[in-house]
Amino acid sequence: MKCDIAVIGAGPAGLSFARLLAGSGLKLVLVERAPESAIADPAFDGREIALTHRSQDILQDIEAWDRIPGDEMSPLRQARVQDGASPFVLDFAPPGETPLGMLVPNHLIRRALYDAVKSADCAELVTGVAVTAVETAPKGGRLTLANGREIRARLVVAADTRMSEARRQMGIATRMRDFGKSMLVARVAHEKPHGGIATEWFGHGQTVAMLPLNGDVSSIVLTLSARRIDELMKMTPEEFGADSTQRTKSRWGAMRLVGTRHAYPLVTTYAMRFVATRFALIGDAAVGMHPVTAHGFNFGLAGAERLATQIRHALERKRDIADPGGLLRYERAHWIATAPLYAATNTIASLYTDDRAPARALRGAVLRLGAALGPVRRLVTAQLMEAR
Ligand SMILES: Cc1cc2nc3c(=O)[nH]c(=O)nc-3n(C[C@H](O)[C@H](O)[C@H](O)COP(=O)(O)OP(=O)(O)OC[C@H]3O[C@@H](n4cnc5c(N)ncnc54)[C@H](O)[C@@H]3O)c2cc1C
Repeated sequence: MKCDIAVIGAGPAGLSFARLLAGSGLKLVLVERAPESAIADPAFDGREIALTHRSQDILQDIEAWDRIPGDEMSPLRQARVQDGASPFVLDFAPPGETPLGMLVPNHLIRRALYDAVKSADCAELVTGVAVTAVETAPKGGRLTLANGREIRARLVVAADTRMSEARRQMGIATRMRDFGKSMLVARVAHEKPHGGIATEWFGHGQTVAMLPLNGDVSSIVLTLSARRIDELMKMTPEEFGADSTQRTKSRWGAMRLVGTRHAYPLVTTYAMRFVATRFALIGDAAVGMHPVTAHGFNFGLAGAERLATQIRHALERKRDIADPGGLLRYERAHWIATAPLYAATNTIASLYTDDRAPARALRGAVLRLGAALGPVRRLVTAQLMEAR
C-alpha cells in the first residue's frame, strides 16, 4: 500500500491531524490496533477533558465540536487550589462571564473526531492491526503491520500514546518521570453544589481533584499509591461513596458513585526530538503531560495543527511534505509551546505530592505568593483558558 502520509494511532491526536489535512489532496492512511468499533463508538474511560478556548476553536474548524452533545459539555467557571488542612484558597477566575474552559468526556471527543474524519473522507482507516516496525530513509518511510502487510509513505506520523513504540523504533530518546503513583477517576453525585468550580486539593498522602460536571455531579480524581488505588477499585460502590465523602471531609456532602471507575499510572514523558527523517511525533507520543494542569490533549491538538500547517505550507510552495526545514519548524514551535509548562507541571506535581515538612512549608508559601501576585494569577488564568 502506498500513500503520502501514514499515521500510527487513531486516538484523538491521530484523528485530529488527519481531519486537519482534509481537502489538501494528500492520501492519508491511519493505522489503529484497536478494532474499528472501539474508535467509532469508544467506551467511557473516566477522563473529563478540560478544553481550552483554542482547542474548542480548532474542534469547531474541523467540524467535530458540533458533534458533541451540548448537555455533555460542562462549563468550568473557576479553578481553586487548596493545601492540606489550611483554609487558605488560591482562586483562578476569568474576567467576565466566559468560562475558563469546557469539560467534555474523552470518549465523546474521540467519537466526534472519528465521525468528522469519516464524513470528510480524508483518510483510509486500517483498524484492528498494530504497526510492528517503522523505518524511514531520505526517499521514504515504511511501516510493517502485525499481519505482514507493508505501507509505504512520504511521511510517517506517530500518534501512538506516551509509551510510543514507533518513537523507540526511530531511536528517539525520551525523558520519562514515573511519579510512583496512580490516578483513579470516577463520576460521583454529591449533596452540595460545586458552583462550576474545579478544586485541586493537596492533602497529606493524597491529592484530590473535583471537576464540576452538569448537575450536582463531579469527576473525582484521586492520586495515591498504586496499592491504594487497587483497593479503591475493588470497593463496592457504597464503600467507594463513603470513602470519597470521608476523604473530601464532607465538603460536597455525601457522595455516591454514579459510573465506572478507571485507573491510570502517573508517568509523564517528553520526547527529546519531535522529528526525524520523514518522521514526526504528535500527541502524547511527543508530550505526555501530567493531568494536573489539564493540557495533554490541548497540546496534542495544537501540535497536530502546527504540523498540518507546515505540511500545507510545503504544498503551497510545491515542496516536499517531509521537507526537513518544515519538520524542524514544527519541532521548534511545539517545543517552545510545551516545554515550559511540561517542566512547571512536573515541578508543581512533585512539590504538592511531597509530604515532607520543607515541601509542605514551601507549597503553603507558594500559594500565598501566587494569591498576592495578581499578574501571576492572571497569567496562569490566561494559560488555562488559552485563547487563540
Ligand atoms: C485521568 C486523565 C485526565 C486527563 N485530563 C485531561 C484534560 O483535562 N485536558 C487535556 O487536554 N488532556 C487530558 N488528559 C490527556 C489526554 O487524555 C491525552 O493527552 C490524549 O488522550 C492523548 O491522545 P493521543 O491520541 O496522543 O493518544 P491516545 O489517546 O493514547 O491514543 C493512541 C492510539 O494509538 C493506538 N496505538 C498505539 N500503538 C499502536 C500501534 N503500534 N499500532 C497501531 N495503533 C497503535 C492506540 O490503540 C490508541 O488508539 C488526561 C489524561 C488522563 C489519563
